[in-house]
Amino acid sequence: MTATRDYYEILGLTKSATDDEIKRAYRRLAMKFHPDRNPDDPEAEAKFKEAAEAYEILSDADKRKRYDQFGHDAFRGAGAAHHDFSRMNVDDIFSMFNDIFGGGGFGGRSGGAGPRAQRVARGYDLETEVSIDFTDVLHGCSRDVEFTRLDVCDTCAGTGAKPGTKPETCSTCGGQGKVQQAGLGGMFRMVTACPACRGVGKIVKEKCPDCHGKGRQPRKRKLSVKIPAGIQTGQAVRVQGEGEPPAREQSPTGEGVRGDLHVLVRVERHDLFEREGDHLLMEMPISFTQASLGAEVEVPTLEGQHTLTIPKATQYGAMFTIHGEGLPNLRSGRRGDLVLVTKIETPKRLTKRQEELLREFAETEDNSVLPESHGFWKKIRDALS
Ligand SMILES: [Zn+2]
Ligand SMILES: [Zn+2]
Repeated sequence: MTATRDYYEILGLTKSATDDEIKRAYRRLAMKFHPDRNPDDPEAEAKFKEAAEAYEILSDADKRKRYDQFGHDAFRGAGAAHHDFSRMNVDDIFSMFNDIFGGGGFGGRSGGAGPRAQRVARGYDLETEVSIDFTDVLHGCSRDVEFTRLDVCDTCAGTGAKPGTKPETCSTCGGQGKVQQAGLGGMFRMVTACPACRGVGKIVKEKCPDCHGKGRQPRKRKLSVKIPAGIQTGQAVRVQGEGEPPAREQSPTGEGVRGDLHVLVRVERHDLFEREGDHLLMEMPISFTQASLGAEVEVPTLEGQHTLTIPKATQYGAMFTIHGEGLPNLRSGRRGDLVLVTKIETPKRLTKRQEELLREFAETEDNSVLPESHGFWKKIRDALS
């Protein structure tokens, strides 16, 4: 056991998180804290392992249930069957959860059907975030994103060997990259990545001075990403082939395709409009005379103004719909509506004359034409009698 922090807290989630949210949260943290991307940073490595542990528990329905009930105690002592991530090799953690990394994951592939189809190594997917203005949702926009990814080291062309030297075939696995191990007291034989060469099949004797033998180096990458109209917070734009090239463990020959970049979009809030899917909601303050007598008011829309007719005897909370003034649907492009909800205001100050008029009005006031008050006071009277 390593983590003593709450597993949900580690992943930045609440107990009501869905399986999908757990997967996404873990994926983001694993990418962020992966030691290859944070060289010589023990804190990042610890965070990486902590996230893996939280994910292992919360992604398993049974373990999650036990954890929800007993907390960390659920996995202490005998019968606590789960991995001690603090002692695990980082690459083993990655390969354990391969289904959630990259489209094809660890040693993934693209195209082909069945296990015998030709495999193409595919690098990891990456994720980055971008914020856009509320009004950009209307027509879509372009945004520059900058992120760090591991690219093939120029100095050693990805071999990890010092220029002028060559990696040697690993003697432990004979260049296969895999070894057989007895698991669970000899009951099973497991094929695992060769511990000597970490699955590469080759050993670098003299390491490349620039990448320290990894064959990959973190590089900054900047590119312009098109954000489509109608996008919502939490949705991601996939940019194909802008992820990482396959790691050496995935493709010792260096062949393969890059993973994708997922650009997670956050839409900033608007001062006036509240978003409800493709519809916009706005609270519209009107005076009690406008509400009583009816009025024409100018209301703002995303692109300009709209003249709205308020009928006589409009009530607090009444809704007016302006069709087609909402946001476009991401798929169909069809625009939603703008819905205005009235809020009736009472003047904070009255002139003498206004007060006189209102007193006169009050003398003629008839409670029975007030739709809520009438029923309300009747209920109170009935309750008291
Ligand atoms: Zn290098
Ligand atoms: Zn080996």
